[in-house]
Amino acid sequence: EAPLLEVKNLQTAFDIDGTDYNAVDNVSFKVKPGQIVGIVGESGCGKSVMSLSIIKLLPKESGKIKSGEVIFDGLNLEKMSESQINKIRGKDVSMIFQEPMTSLNPVFTIGYQLQEVLFNHLKITKQEARLKSIALLKSVGISRPEKLIDEYPHQLSGGMRQRVMIAIAIACQPKLLIADEPTTALDVTVQAQILELLKEIQAANDMSVILITHDLGVIAEMCDEVMVMYAGRIIEHTDVDTLFHNPKHPYTSLLLGAIPKMDGQAERLSSIKGIVPSLINMPAEGCRFANRCPKAMPECTTITPLLEDVGQGHEVACLLFETSRPKEGVRK
Ligand code: SF4
Ligand code: MG
Repeated sequence: EAPLLEVKNLQTAFDIDGTDYNAVDNVSFKVKPGQIVGIVGESGCGKSVMSLSIIKLLPKESGKIKSGEVIFDGLNLEKMSESQINKIRGKDVSMIFQEPMTSLNPVFTIGYQLQEVLFNHLKITKQEARLKSIALLKSVGISRPEKLIDEYPHQLSGGMRQRVMIAIAIACQPKLLIADEPTTALDVTVQAQILELLKEIQAANDMSVILITHDLGVIAEMCDEVMVMYAGRIIEHTDVDTLFHNPKHPYTSLLLGAIPKMDGQAERLSSIKGIVPSLINMPAEGCRFANRCPKAMPECTTITPLLEDVGQGHEVACLLFETSRPKEGVRK
């Protein structure tokens, strides 16, 4: 089946005092229609930067895509102008972010903000937009949409606001939804409800979803496939069952081992010794996990591991699993 989204060798850099630092380093993956693909990693690993790169929402002052391609539904997004991409963003590709960073405007009513999206992308009358907004709010589990439509964001709970954001995101029936930590700020019960809602909407519309999270529990609950990111690179990519039952990369194993047995909101990853190298201290060559890896070998600091298929589409970037590699030197 042809992928809906194909990201090829994406490299995104931030300019810090005149020097480029790669926040996303040579990332490639595909998303099929109707698939839920998870991206998991510690904060600062590049997962948000990558998703913003896909739909060209990087902060203009600093972030820029250095190389690579993003092919969505046959269109090369990186080659598109701002006005061309505006027609796709919010319509064919939508995003939701972590509440309260979601972009509900405090000075406009919920109804106004929903209808704005509809007017932007659809030929629709005022009356139709109001009716469609009410129907959308109902579809995200809001019980009195006729009342809520005239309310302002501050009158809603965090969970309700996130439901509204989902309603806005799905208003034009996107083919792809990118959800970046959509439930992280919500309490556990509301989190479960929102994830359930996302799952229902995904199934009903056969929408593709990229779900970004630091929470492996969310991945297990929601995803078909998962990519583990570390320091701007994908270090493991496989189906969810394989990731949990047969992880290969030492970092993934540590992540899985760090899941506390009881509850889980807490810093799950803090039990891995050491810290992720910061952007400006990223080693120029070798494995970026080498300073924390319990299995590191001398060559890990000089040879950059490539993401390679170790069987049945299970991809791992670790020298332990490479079948053929040069004795020394960085590969590009
Ligand atoms: Fe550890 Fe080396 Fe594998 Fe990196 S390449 S994960 S340092 S063993
Ligand atoms: Mg993030």
